[in-house]
Amino acid sequence: MNSKLPHVGTTIFTTMGKLAHAHDAVNLSQGFPNFSPDPKLLQLVAQAVQSDYNQYAPMQGMFSLRETISEKMETLYGKAYHPESELTVTAGATQGIFTAITTFVKAGDEVIVFKPAYDCYEPAISLNGGTVVPIELKGQEFKVDWAEVNSKITPKTRMVIINTPHNPSGTILSKDDMLQLESLLAGTDILLLSDEVYEHLIFDGRIHESAAKFKGLAERSIICASFGKTFHVTGWKLGYVAGPKSLMREFQKVHQYNVFCVNHPMQKGLAQYLKNPEHYLALSAFYEEKRDYFLRAIQGSRFTFTASQGTYFQVVDYSGITEESDIDFSKRLITEHQLASIPLSVFNLNNADHRQLRFCFAKTKETLDKAAELIHRI
Ligand code: GLN
Repeated sequence: MNSKLPHVGTTIFTTMGKLAHAHDAVNLSQGFPNFSPDPKLLQLVAQAVQSDYNQYAPMQGMFSLRETISEKMETLYGKAYHPESELTVTAGATQGIFTAITTFVKAGDEVIVFKPAYDCYEPAISLNGGTVVPIELKGQEFKVDWAEVNSKITPKTRMVIINTPHNPSGTILSKDDMLQLESLLAGTDILLLSDEVYEHLIFDGRIHESAAKFKGLAERSIICASFGKTFHVTGWKLGYVAGPKSLMREFQKVHQYNVFCVNHPMQKGLAQYLKNPEHYLALSAFYEEKRDYFLRAIQGSRFTFTASQGTYFQVVDYSGITEESDIDFSKRLITEHQLASIPLSVFNLNNADHRQLRFCFAKTKETLDKAAELIHRI
């Protein structure tokens, strides 16, 4: 078979999820909550189904939903995206990212990707004939070396992809990072794809620095968001992208032949639910409590860690426990200890193995207690 993605296998989330299931493991691998969404949201979607919102939605997404997204972004980030021409509702952030890359990356273009990186960026770049230019995030804090970024920019650079709060590391980009990026891209025609799916999961009083807040970034950015993360509904696969009219026009040319439109009744429910800012502003405190609960519970185990700054992931270091590779170790944790995690090397530059695992703490206290008990036995 002449594969278009010869080096790509099945995703780590599917692999670890299956293994976890087969061994009845406590599953802190793939990132999803194991508790229910707000009944109010479910009620609104049920009403939408009953009220006949069951045919195609508008191609760009329901207007009322786009209006509410626009208001939310203006309030939070001080940037008004026009609901008519600057927002598109997508089938999760994954489709937003894939469509954005497909819209803008041509054969021979270079795309800067920070490693470790979430796994859906690079295959999309390759499928469009682009070249991934990977740059490693540095040290325990996963910092960007902006001088290195500057040195990697060439006339072929078409796009930079950032992700803040960052999966898998749980770190965030600071205002200073964003300003450095803004000045680096000034005067170029390089686009920014800003993956902000964890925008509402940020801890210890930190502030999410959306690309929308920086004029020189907003004008060249497609920003991706996901309702799955924000409202505990990862299975609904609904999100949106925001960007200036000129970019959105091109994005929608691809979107209309990619999915045309996405799930209508859920858009109707979300349009009403999103009107109340409490529904997303309460999320950081909710997950900060879970992070603290989990970290307190695993304190004193042989795993070491620096507290996550955002997302619902916690990276731990197990170098004090074994020399095994992170893939072997994470598989053995499932088969011998019934505990599932994600090995970090799959996201790393050249799959470098720093003996780190990622745990998802978007789980009930009962599940976190069970996980902590297992972790203390390792
Ligand atoms: N974003 C989720 C994670 O990082 C996984 C989503 C998926 O399975 N593709 O765990």
